[in-house]
Amino acid sequence: MYYFDNASTTKVLKPAADAALKCMTENYGNPSSLHKMGVDAEDTLTSSRKLIANVFNCKDEEIIFTSCATESTNIAILGVANSKKKVGNKIITTTIEHAATASCISHLENNGFEVVRISPKNGKYYAADIVNEIDDRTILMSIMHVNNENGLILPIEEIAKQAKNKNPNIIIHVDAVQSFCKIPINTNKIPIDLASVSGHKINAPKGVGALYIRKGIKIQRHSFGGPQENNLRPGTEALPSIVAFGVAAKTHMENMNKSIEHYTALKKHLLDRIKDNPEILLNSSDNCVPYIVNLSIKGIRSEIMLHFLEEKGFCVSSGSACSKAKKSGVLQNMGYSKEREDWAIRISFSAENTINQIDMLVDAIEAGQKSLIKTY
Ligand code: PLP
Repeated sequence: MYYFDNASTTKVLKPAADAALKCMTENYGNPSSLHKMGVDAEDTLTSSRKLIANVFNCKDEEIIFTSCATESTNIAILGVANSKKKVGNKIITTTIEHAATASCISHLENNGFEVVRISPKNGKYYAADIVNEIDDRTILMSIMHVNNENGLILPIEEIAKQAKNKNPNIIIHVDAVQSFCKIPINTNKIPIDLASVSGHKINAPKGVGALYIRKGIKIQRHSFGGPQENNLRPGTEALPSIVAFGVAAKTHMENMNKSIEHYTALKKHLLDRIKDNPEILLNSSDNCVPYIVNLSIKGIRSEIMLHFLEEKGFCVSSGSACSKAKKSGVLQNMGYSKEREDWAIRISFSAENTINQIDMLVDAIEAGQKSLIKTY
């Protein structure tokens, strides 16, 4: 199979898998144990924490490990809401968040918080539209950095700076899952307070994530147990996955510029190949990352094209995240029609994809256009 679904999940890097195996079979102590194996495990945990902290240019004590970005987001959003509910009850977010954020915020809304969801304008976010909504009752803003469906980049630096100018007490959470290790996020320059990230999107195993928590930010815990991870995520740390996460993050950081050049070349080639095909519509703009491309194949429902491509040996995803066959509506929010959302497929790259694979993928899409029955 040629894998073009790296925004869903990724193959674990060999050095990351090797490090996890070593940790499971040799350095298998519990970081909380007092003996030598425990101390070795704790040292390994600290080194991995430093590798994740490097990505954010923050201190290692500002990183906690979790099981995934969804858990990080729950800890962040529910934790802020509960610790700040005496100060205010207004939360600002966008209409294009991943379910991890959207569901947490809907839960708070059902429990009395006021929620303002900002839509994009002409497929873009403007800092002013978000910041205008902030008042002194606003306790939290949660925005994504890169959208998982079409790769739209939100101007988090501008938003965060203007937001803090207007209300220095607002807490800003960023879902950085699709930008982590791919676009720099320097917490010395960008005044965000919390950021959720995930291991399995950057070639580490599933089951590990992290949360950046700026020093001094108070969030109320919502699970109880031991004192691990600053009392916020109790339970023995999943050290093998954490170690692999650190190795994967380091590898990505060392190759960041090279990877961006590679993704840019792949995207350019893909767009060149489809530009004269009037029935393939691009749902990504210049404000999108080069590693996620969202296309609508006119008249062919996503799932039909997805399975056609699967038979030809390609993995892509439906261009609009869906649960139980219900589309997320994110693409419609970005201004595309319902039909266009129904026809959307998402192609997302890794360092392993090649120009030749893109050619084969476009040939397969065009074969699907010829043989599949169109519904318009
Ligand atoms: N946020 C975004 C933007 C995502 O793309 C994903 C995963 O698809 C998540 C959050 C959730 O990540 P995890 O699977 O680590 O919980």
